[in-house]
Amino acid sequence: MKDSVRALAAEFKQFLSTRQEDDLTPAACSRAAAHMSEPPRTTATPERQDHLTVEFVRESKKSAKIVSSAAPVSEANTNTSAEAALIHDSSFSFKEPVMSDAEKQTLLNQIAEEIKACRRCPLGSTRLNAVPGEGNPNATLMFIGEGPGFDEDHKGRPFIGRAGQLLDKMIAAMGLKREDVFIANIAKCHPMVNPENPEAHGNDRAPNAGEIAVCRKFLERQIAAISPKYVVALGGVAAKALISDTNSLGALRGKFHTLHLDSVELKNPIKIIATFHPAALLRNPNWKKDAWADLQMVMAEMGLKRPQG
Ligand code: SF4
Repeated sequence: MKDSVRALAAEFKQFLSTRQEDDLTPAACSRAAAHMSEPPRTTATPERQDHLTVEFVRESKKSAKIVSSAAPVSEANTNTSAEAALIHDSSFSFKEPVMSDAEKQTLLNQIAEEIKACRRCPLGSTRLNAVPGEGNPNATLMFIGEGPGFDEDHKGRPFIGRAGQLLDKMIAAMGLKREDVFIANIAKCHPMVNPENPEAHGNDRAPNAGEIAVCRKFLERQIAAISPKYVVALGGVAAKALISDTNSLGALRGKFHTLHLDSVELKNPIKIIATFHPAALLRNPNWKKDAWADLQMVMAEMGLKRPQG
């Protein structure tokens, strides 16, 4: 285990034992510093990008079909064997990945470019930067929040503010690194209380139901490409959207559920657990132990051990 991971884990343990009120103000949260550089991206050739343009089309509640937007379904046999498997089989298998890591990364890059060009909801007109998400294209574990905040909007990267730094510590406490997992939000653009002032701190809000409904297709395509085994929903908005539309976070926490996707039906269900959003943990330190208990359930499922020292 690297020293840096041990240090992050130690910081998180220290965080669990501290209850400093000055950590909890919105202003303090907004002062969070972005600290990570742009992630490396691979560039696909135009031909390859066209070839990998995969669109998920919802036919009914129970049946989802995947077609290539670069060619009609009847031309599906011009695709790679991996894409053909996607087109002819509307489900996904974790044990038999349908795409190589490189193909997954290429597809994720393409989805990210679509997100950056998207204006399907009003958030696209007021954002500074879209925030597609980032991480390991072959991650076993995904963390999913509700939407970007001030820092993320300015940098175009997920969870890089003070809440993101706490998330890094939580990941390290699980014995993982940020690069091991994939981190994303349901809404890809910054929801603001006052959309006319993206430079204002304390201007964040949760995405509304309409924004989530329009944007979640991007997240579902990312999940389908990555094929994680586990998802941690960060906060009530993400938990309700991915598990249940009705129950509160308190009712959803503390147990595994089956991930609900609107546009993709998975052959092998993805286990999802809901816990507190790191920003909520900054505001309410009393919840930290419950959050750690949730993460320990994921660790037990994944066979992870807490780093020593
Ligand atoms: S929030 Fe999602 S749907 Fe709305 S503009 Fe951004 S990427 Fe498009």
